[in-house]
Amino acid sequence: MKSIRVGQGVDIHQLVKGRKMILGGVHIPHEKGPLGHSDADVLIHAICDALLGAAALGDIGYHFPDTSSEFKDIDSGLLLKQVCELLSSKGWKIGNIDSTLILERPKIKPHIPAMQERLSALMGIETDAISIKATTNEKMGYVGRGEGVLAFASCLIFKD
Ligand code: MG
Repeated sequence: MKSIRVGQGVDIHQLVKGRKMILGGVHIPHEKGPLGHSDADVLIHAICDALLGAAALGDIGYHFPDTSSEFKDIDSGLLLKQVCELLSSKGWKIGNIDSTLILERPKIKPHIPAMQERLSALMGIETDAISIKATTNEKMGYVGRGEGVLAFASCLIFKD
């Protein structure tokens, strides 16, 4: 029987003025963006952690420490690519990704096809194997006040 694993990942970043909002590898025009050492793409970070988790290969902070200048302002797409290469080197293939972004504004729906395209190119899987959903926090708490953004991701990986 082939080997099948699931993984989950979560990421949270502050939203601050003066930062570009890049989510799922796509620039989304907005007055705030996620604060972080890299481009702070929460969706990609959650996907990286889901993939690493499924393969029991640690987490994104272990592989790409935020104390390293190598990763300052880095395109998180490059990190995802490296994670996929690491899994591939261990014989893992990616089945699918399911993810959810939680933020109050802006509306994410119009940007989802572009995110699926970018993630598909980075991970080498079809766009219809990459689900991206979005919801608000109903104006409650720090997410509701537009002070932060969360992402959750699940994945399935397998070996033939
Ligand atoms: Mg992060």
